[in-house]
Amino acid sequence: MDADILIIGGGLVGSTLALALARHEVTSIVVDAADLDTTILPAFDGRASAVASAPARMLRALGLGEMLDSLGCPIRAIRVTDGTAPQFLHFDATGDDEPLGRMVENRHLRAALLEAVRGAGGVTLIDRAQVAGLDRDDHRARLRLADGREFTAPVAVACDGRRSKTREQAGIRLARWSYPNAALVTMVAHSVPHDNVACELFYPTGPLALLPMTDHEDGRPRSAIVWTVDAAQAEGARKLGPIALAAEIAARIDGTLGQVEVVAPQAVWPLGFHHATDYVAARLVLAGDAAHGMHPIAGQGLNAGWRDVAALTEVLVDAARTGQDLGSPAVLARYSAWRRMDNSMVLAATDTLNRLFAIPGRPAALVRRFGLAAVERIAPLKARFMAEARGETGKMPALLRGETV
Ligand SMILES: Cc1cc2nc3c(=O)[nH]c(=O)nc-3n(C[C@H](O)[C@H](O)[C@H](O)COP(=O)(O)OP(=O)(O)OC[C@H]3O[C@@H](n4cnc5c(N)ncnc54)[C@H](O)[C@@H]3O)c2cc1C
Repeated sequence: MDADILIIGGGLVGSTLALALARHEVTSIVVDAADLDTTILPAFDGRASAVASAPARMLRALGLGEMLDSLGCPIRAIRVTDGTAPQFLHFDATGDDEPLGRMVENRHLRAALLEAVRGAGGVTLIDRAQVAGLDRDDHRARLRLADGREFTAPVAVACDGRRSKTREQAGIRLARWSYPNAALVTMVAHSVPHDNVACELFYPTGPLALLPMTDHEDGRPRSAIVWTVDAAQAEGARKLGPIALAAEIAARIDGTLGQVEVVAPQAVWPLGFHHATDYVAARLVLAGDAAHGMHPIAGQGLNAGWRDVAALTEVLVDAARTGQDLGSPAVLARYSAWRRMDNSMVLAATDTLNRLFAIPGRPAALVRRFGLAAVERIAPLKARFMAEARGETGKMPALLRGETV
């Protein structure tokens, strides 16, 4: 079987890419090792993602606006503090119709994308697929499954996540390191409204993020918690019962949410940094976590992957319309040039932020607090951080402006 594009990995990035290409009449075959129906169950991925405003515009252009409005919670402001110190940095979308982003549970994102991909013409979705190999020559990429099926296209896109076998087999190297901490993720219901403000409280072990969610089923306000803990203590923190965990969270947020109750199971995610030395090889492209992975400090990992999708769609659709070979080095180089530098800056910024706030002691804290106060007062610097939070830096592809190509 033949298509315009082969996509290996139908997670949040791969499925969005298939949908975006389908909307532009570019056909794809998506293969995923998982049973995708199980990936939308709450127990599979209890995380929520901050969908920045520019990627949200793309999801709307692809027909997911209703899901974002009904299941997403607008983020109208972001407040950054050094622990519970009074100085803070405040980003505000008040007076602007478009929020800075929306918090959406990953299971809702996955379910909406899966349904849209299944309903889209031009996408062949094959899950529970075991990839036996990807052969690439001067003309085609040929994907072989263990059951003997074969698929070909001018180019394959690896969207198979941070441990991408496709990337590894292509011999693309990584800059990578692990952080000495892990993210403990859960949800709390609370007595004080969150007012659509996302709070990022930085502690030497890492940040504690309070992210506004739609109300809990009993009507109380609800927030997602991403608490960066020392890796050695992560297992202990995961085993805390809901009451002890609620007490630990409450002790660190200085009454911001009033009384808190843990209302979701907690999960622990190891944290690391990786960046592929190349985004393209012969007849192969990397996108999403297959290409890059970062600390969730600023909620940018998936957003960076969606920005890859928007740029790659534009490059491939342009090439298809002008009759070019979709896998030619010139076409792939355009994508790489567009995305690699942009991602390098986001990756460097999140890594630096994480290290800066990890330095213990009073002198470091004073420097940080001075830095927060300075960014708060320097308008162009603040505007730059705002644009980053919205996912609007660099050259914007049409989809991130909410337009099709
Ligand atoms: C605690 C935490 C909080 C986060 N919060 C945010 C946030 O608020 N905002 C944000 O933007 N980002 C956030 N991120 C980052 C975000 O979750 C990831 O960047 C995103 O999930 C990457 O999506 P992906 O589709 O590239 O990869 P994945 O989600 O890993 O998907 C890969 C897909 O490929 C399939 N696959 C794997 N191997 C194979 C194979 N050999 N053959 C076929 N298929 C294969 C898998 O089954 C899967 O479906 C967070 C991350 C963490 C850890």
